[in-house]
Amino acid sequence: MKVPMSSPDLTDAEREAVAAVMRTPNLSMGPELPAFEAAMAQVVGTQHAIAVSSGTAALHLCVAAARIGDDDLVITTPFSFVASTNALLYERATPIFVDVDPLSGNLDPDQVAAAVEDLSNGGKRAEAWLPPAYAGGGTLKGLLTVDVFGQPAEYEPLLRVVQDNDLILIEDSSEALGAEYHGRQVGTFGEAGVFAFYPNKQMTTAEGGVVVTDRDDWAGRIRALRNQGREKTDSWLQHTHLGYNYRMHEMSAALGLVQVSRLGELLSKRERVAGWYAERLQAFPGVRLPHIATGTSRMSWFVYVIRLEPGIDRAEVIHGLRDLGIPSRAYFDPIHLQPYMRERFGYQRGAYPVTEELSARCLALPFSGVMTEQQVDLVCEALNAALA
Ligand SMILES: *Cc1c(COP(=O)(O)O)cnc(C)c1O
Repeated sequence: MKVPMSSPDLTDAEREAVAAVMRTPNLSMGPELPAFEAAMAQVVGTQHAIAVSSGTAALHLCVAAARIGDDDLVITTPFSFVASTNALLYERATPIFVDVDPLSGNLDPDQVAAAVEDLSNGGKRAEAWLPPAYAGGGTLKGLLTVDVFGQPAEYEPLLRVVQDNDLILIEDSSEALGAEYHGRQVGTFGEAGVFAFYPNKQMTTAEGGVVVTDRDDWAGRIRALRNQGREKTDSWLQHTHLGYNYRMHEMSAALGLVQVSRLGELLSKRERVAGWYAERLQAFPGVRLPHIATGTSRMSWFVYVIRLEPGIDRAEVIHGLRDLGIPSRAYFDPIHLQPYMRERFGYQRGAYPVTEELSARCLALPFSGVMTEQQVDLVCEALNAALA
């Protein structure tokens, strides 16, 4: 391939920080972890930041800290990476999917409000929101939002529903570090927020994630659960809770500490690359640019996802691009149609038509903060040829 699909943005400062850890005996539970956590809390503006081994682990610990479990229903989006829904399944909760806004791809707040009302009232109208193969009599406990592709969900109306109905809000902001909704950073609207640091995200720790929260009780529980269930007061081999090994090691924390110190630079470089794409692609017939919602006061570019007009064969475009040395990806397969979800909950095509339509037409182009303008030109020329 002539251009990579994604690329981390690393300098000698990151390489030296990781190498420095390797010259110490502290490869885990050393000084880098609390330093990284303090930096994350400061950047996001929360009381606590708890770093863990992945974004998925961070989501799982939020669900556990919320005491969401058997018989609990949680509203979430089917247009996401599977981890946001899986975190609920790990605790045996039932995800209730609500379809998304056709422009932003984020949860449609009107439909969320309708689902909450119907589920609270029960009866036939409640049933319409439940998975086809659902037998339990669970109660609605929370909302798990996703800031898809780096764009904040519609938090104003969503928060109103959450507050009016006493729901728990968990934000999966794994794709949106630094994004702002009406001037407020994502990750700060709910009881807790999650960011992820896989190498294709805005900043990386190789593998890793973080929970941000203002709640002391959640922070304490999450710290205990990530470390084999040990409470602060437990001795070395004492375990108050059934916990996990979700610790982030020192090399990752050291890498993250340098990356977060460069966050402003990392985000503005990605914004510049998105700008180069927009300049070129706005003239392309059949191609729709990413939509920026009015509430989005700052986009945090995670991926560059265009939409192909109906009538254009996306598979053919992907093949055409590949023949010209350009990778691309069909983002996302709807979660409700994943084989394990169909098998467990009985979902069929047509259940969430907006999600399914987006899934059929979205195309992610190569994207990173280290892409050059020449590389963007290469991709756009190839796209032009593949469309023709
Ligand atoms: C990246 C991502 C995660 C977390 O992924 P990990 O690979 O476990 O760090 C969670 N949710 C969404 C929506 C993501 O894009």
